Amino acid sequence: MSNRNSADQAFVRELNLSLVLRFIHNEAPVSRSQIAQATGLNKSTVSSLVEDLLQRQLVHETGVNSNGTGRPATMLEINPQAGGIIGVELGVDFIAVALTNFTATILWRETVNVAPSDAQEKTINKMIELTDKAIVICKDHGLYLLGFGLSVPGTADSGEGILIFAPNLQWRNVPFGKIFCEHTNLKVYVENDANAAAIAEHLFGVARKSDDFIFVVASFGIGGGLFLNGNLYRGKNGFAGEIGHTPIVAEPYQNPCHCGNLGCWETYANQGSLIKRVVTRLESNRESIIPKFMAEQNSPLTISIIKQAADKYDKEAVEALEETGAALGLGFASLIDIFNPGKIILGGSLSSIGIHLLPSIKETATKHSLSDVSPKVDIMLSAFETDAILIGAISIVVNDILSHPATVERR
Ligand SMILES: [Zn+2]
Repeated sequence: MSNRNSADQAFVRELNLSLVLRFIHNEAPVSRSQIAQATGLNKSTVSSLVEDLLQRQLVHETGVNSNGTGRPATMLEINPQAGGIIGVELGVDFIAVALTNFTATILWRETVNVAPSDAQEKTINKMIELTDKAIVICKDHGLYLLGFGLSVPGTADSGEGILIFAPNLQWRNVPFGKIFCEHTNLKVYVENDANAAAIAEHLFGVARKSDDFIFVVASFGIGGGLFLNGNLYRGKNGFAGEIGHTPIVAEPYQNPCHCGNLGCWETYANQGSLIKRVVTRLESNRESIIPKFMAEQNSPLTISIIKQAADKYDKEAVEALEETGAALGLGFASLIDIFNPGKIILGGSLSSIGIHLLPSIKETATKHSLSDVSPKVDIMLSAFETDAILIGAISIVVNDILSHPATVERR
């Protein structure tokens, strides 16, 4: 009986520790009495919990607030120096690695291009090499290493740390958790890219106070992070949010998708579809500034070149972007009608050209969703531009520490 009681007490204490740490994360700077007032915990419990968080160096005191009424109070906030976090974004044609502090400020980063057709072993070895570099740099900064997060472009079993299926890489069942845990001796977190980015927006970005929003990654493919009722929605098997593979076009206009199906939404609205729209227009010898930019920069047709042309009001670039935005907007309309989100946030490579896409996305999404629902949604760009998934890999570690602060040692 007494064992049971002490287990219950330890469980309640960890819940309260998390409650206080999340409150400080969301509302800092805050005083102990503000924490007590907001959480309903008594003042001595709050003092004891704050002392615990101070010993784990997860929070620190920022000075005294003597403004306003009442007694001066010592204010608390999250301690950026609580430790370092390594985040790895496995993209389809690149690997990005960052070292950040506990508030997701990037201290070091590196991105390398890889070919989607490269052998899996070669790409994984490159990920390990960059991770080793980040570990050394973390030590150079004198930071305690808090954890390692990996975001993957496909479905993931985050509990087991396994990439289940990445359609655009054609990778299946890769045990990343095991691979990186054995290599780094760290707690390793593996998450789907859009889910990771949704957590980033919720903790540090444009969805800080939002309980119902959807993060849409539009790059090689399209993925969704569904953040509903204050939590990531994973579905029965953890694969929820594969919005890019919902069929939107009936025969005979069906594009083949890497998932093996025909007519998936992403094939009409991903970065490849934008490039294809521009190529088709150029092939019909329409007048455009794009070939000149490609020649001057000795570059193939890229999102960046299309953006430069659109910035100069190039008709072919602008129209191709409008078409792509409309194709994106069709899928957004479905998301609006099904989930009634407060926000839909666009990230991924297409967000770098998002300023040109947003008007047609909004127009189409509004036109094709129910008139009572669509005015309630804000469609916006990620706070992190094209880094949302990389910050997401960091954020899944931060989020777990906010939920389980006692996993960080007292120092
Ligand atoms: Zn598909």
